[in-house]
Amino acid sequence: MAVDPLIELRDVNKHYGQLHVLRNIDLTVGRGEVVVIIGPSGSGKSTLCRTINRLETIESGTITLDGRPLPAEGRELARLRAEVGMVFQSFNLFAHKTVLANVSLAQVKVRKRGKDEAEKRSRELLDRVGLADQADKYPAQLSGGQQQRVAIARALAMSPKALLFDEPTSALDPEMINEVLEVMQQLAAEGMTMVVVTHEMGFARSAANRVVFMADGRIVEDRTPEEFFTAPESERARDFLSKIL
Ligand code: ADP
Ligand code: MG
Repeated sequence: MAVDPLIELRDVNKHYGQLHVLRNIDLTVGRGEVVVIIGPSGSGKSTLCRTINRLETIESGTITLDGRPLPAEGRELARLRAEVGMVFQSFNLFAHKTVLANVSLAQVKVRKRGKDEAEKRSRELLDRVGLADQADKYPAQLSGGQQQRVAIARALAMSPKALLFDEPTSALDPEMINEVLEVMQQLAAEGMTMVVVTHEMGFARSAANRVVFMADGRIVEDRTPEEFFTAPESERARDFLSKIL
């Protein structure tokens, strides 16, 4: 498949003190692609996600978003960062704001939309994630699965070019995992560009265009789910899969 690159990392390196946490990372995410990142705990998956959004600085390499280099800081960075939404394991909703306000807030502050327009869009998005009737509640009144769907609606509200998910279902009770994965499947089917760190191999098989396997800060494999799951090339990946499948 000829990809139209939306996110490109070239030879990206990052340390935390002595720890070389990202090593020579080359990764291209095409427009409309879903890339699932898997790998052992501590392999650098979360750091990679945060790096794509420049929530972390890097020491060398380049990151481009839609053909433009991501600057290290400043107004331009804030603008570009708003184009890549992020959904975390812990939903990070504002506890003292309603669901509607959670989804609307950044639209007004960052995207400079009027309050009415932002709320209208928020209601549409809440409907899309199956929460039209929860708009006036507070996060603590919702289940974990519902809170995570609010977080997804909030990320979508910024009209991002891509979404990053860092273990979005890892903090959820088992019966709530599917309602979140279904929303993500739907987004994937609609053509949203997504980078998803997850241990949900069913999602990887059914939604991913590519599976990226990381170990010790490196990308060890970057292949189709079909290839990866039927014949992983590396010992590390075989070992990892034998433990989780
Ligand atoms: P993963 O998400 O794959 O579990 P992380 O990206 O969270 O891995 O972490 C990769 C490595 O970097 C781990 O060894 C972790 O302990 C370390 N690390 C993560 N964040 C920090 C930080 N802020 N300061 C120092 N070390 C960190
Ligand atoms: Mg992590």
